[in-house]
Amino acid sequence: MNGTGQSNGVGDGTRAVRAGLPEPVKHEPTLPGPVFAAHYHLPGDPTGPYTYGRDENPTWTHLERAIGELEAPGQDGVETLVFASGMAAISSVVFSQLRAGDAVVLPSDGYQVLPLVRAQLEAYGIEVRTAPTAGDAQLDVLDGAKLLWIETPSNPGLDVCDVRRLAEAARARGALVAVDNTLATPLGQRPLELGADFSVASGTKQLTGHGDILLGYVTGRDPAAMAAVRRWRKIVGAIPGPMEAWLAHRSIATLQLRVDRQNASALAVAEALRDWPEDLGVRYPGLMSDPSYKIASQQMHRYGCVVSFTLPTRARADRFLDALRLVDDATSFGGVRSTAERRGRWGGDAVAEGFIRLSVGAEDPGDLVADVLAALDESAK
Ligand SMILES: *Cc1c(COP(=O)(O)O)cnc(C)c1O
Repeated sequence: MNGTGQSNGVGDGTRAVRAGLPEPVKHEPTLPGPVFAAHYHLPGDPTGPYTYGRDENPTWTHLERAIGELEAPGQDGVETLVFASGMAAISSVVFSQLRAGDAVVLPSDGYQVLPLVRAQLEAYGIEVRTAPTAGDAQLDVLDGAKLLWIETPSNPGLDVCDVRRLAEAARARGALVAVDNTLATPLGQRPLELGADFSVASGTKQLTGHGDILLGYVTGRDPAAMAAVRRWRKIVGAIPGPMEAWLAHRSIATLQLRVDRQNASALAVAEALRDWPEDLGVRYPGLMSDPSYKIASQQMHRYGCVVSFTLPTRARADRFLDALRLVDDATSFGGVRSTAERRGRWGGDAVAEGFIRLSVGAEDPGDLVADVLAALDESAK
């Protein structure tokens, strides 16, 4: 599957630049501007599509179509809902699908806010089981679970699990499957085609790619499950602003360009780190020697822009981050400007003190590799 995804007869770049565009209307813009509205003219019976701003907005509709076309090209009956953030999207699935007495399987090595979600679920009387992402360990704790939550590749460890295999096992046991697709983006991986019921992601990262908005989405195929997700969005009101939604749609036009550039550079940086004389335990799912490579190459079209590695000490890691000239010391990932951080500073992930998560941006790859190698050299002194 590895390589440029082709679907619906056209390439990913073509799909990305046209995603979600309405039919052309003379004298109207190609992508209509953001609609700022708390309410809409609504005489008579209050019927949709546009009644009140917390429920629907035409700018969301365009963006939801765009994301749906990338997540599930050519699949009928798939629905996408956008949210104020990735966490709003994750919470909408987890809290709308589970009831007291249900069991859910979460990754033990997933996004750092999941432990807070876990505590909240347990407070509501939901049983939470965890399993690491690598090696499909989720299989051992699946019996009787209502929902299997997968994060592949995992953030920040970059482990990968076999979505097709896990989705089949979950389906056989009557469990729904959700995949956090943040790191891969829909151009890197299409979870619904691999058998998942939901693809959920933070649009804050590479999907929008400029580090200037928070956004989330849920794409799903089960009408009843998606109706519950929509109801949750209405109840909680975790909706994106029209400006954010419009900026996101505008950014998706360049998704293929950004992803291809950033991911190719990420591989170049990963190779340079692998070839460095010290063993840095570099992880990148697209590196053939990586433990994630075998499964990743079967289920991913592209391998992401995040590279992780471990420096021997916290002090060395801090010196390395200081010495970088082209890479900002900042959290998050996926932006056109490279960022890196010592992940241990947050205290939430099970990583070594010297663990670095590096997000490769759209700078010239040679410049980035040189900057990273120079900082490694300087920090070793
Ligand atoms: C950032 C991130 C989230 C949360 O997204 P926000 O937009 O920050 O709420 C969820 N999952 C993963 C894998 C992430 O990297």
